[in-house]
Amino acid sequence: MLDLEKVNSHLESKTALERMAFGISEFEQGAVLLSSMQKTSSVLMHMFHELGVDNEIVFVDTGFHFHETLQLRDEFMRKYKLNIRTLYPTLTPEQQEEQYRCKLYQTVEGQPVCCDIRKGQPFLRYMKKEGRQLVFGGRRREEGSARANIAIVSEDPRFKGYNLNPIVDWTRDMVTDYIKTHDVPVHSLHSLCYPSIGCQCCTTPVMEGEEARAGRWRHLREDGRTGPAYCGINFTDGSGI
Ligand code: SF4
Repeated sequence: MLDLEKVNSHLESKTALERMAFGISEFEQGAVLLSSMQKTSSVLMHMFHELGVDNEIVFVDTGFHFHETLQLRDEFMRKYKLNIRTLYPTLTPEQQEEQYRCKLYQTVEGQPVCCDIRKGQPFLRYMKKEGRQLVFGGRRREEGSARANIAIVSEDPRFKGYNLNPIVDWTRDMVTDYIKTHDVPVHSLHSLCYPSIGCQCCTTPVMEGEEARAGRWRHLREDGRTGPAYCGINFTDGSGI
């Protein structure tokens, strides 16, 4: 059991790489990285390469990704020889549509069910089955909303383990600088007005002046509805973010 107060205060003054090294030394192969193949995931995957570790990097293939997302996963495997493991939902998109008699992602009620089946469940099944105890993620406080106050390390009761966010205090410019300095590959759609990228059917580009996540589930915010903000695969402070 980690003493979270002590660990968080110890890690506050450390670099992102040192925070990641701490997680790996504490949990060894029980520490994994959950990658969405977005910009911050590129940074963290590159840090795995820098540390020279072969811990698993898990990527959940929902079956609805842009082909550019899968291309980036393959590029990281080729370029850095990383140990990337792809997880899949138990239902194919076709089986899901047949079972639920609709495209779940098209409705406000269906979206959380779809995200749970296609993202949350495969990830949690993996964490429990493989006995993993720590997951690294790329969330940053600067993103605001539910992420504004996240700790570096926090508990994740879903698999009785912990989340560790090594770049929690990084700014967007720091992410950009890291990518430039280390020539790290990034998702090709980021440069086409997609600052935040999820499944193809639930992601649109954003217009100037819009928030970074405005393109996520835009179709569910029509008619002034609030709509979903997160898919729920990540967890902090009691809710999926
Ligand atoms: S983002 Fe959309 S398509 Fe992807 S899992 Fe969630 S609801 Fe389904």
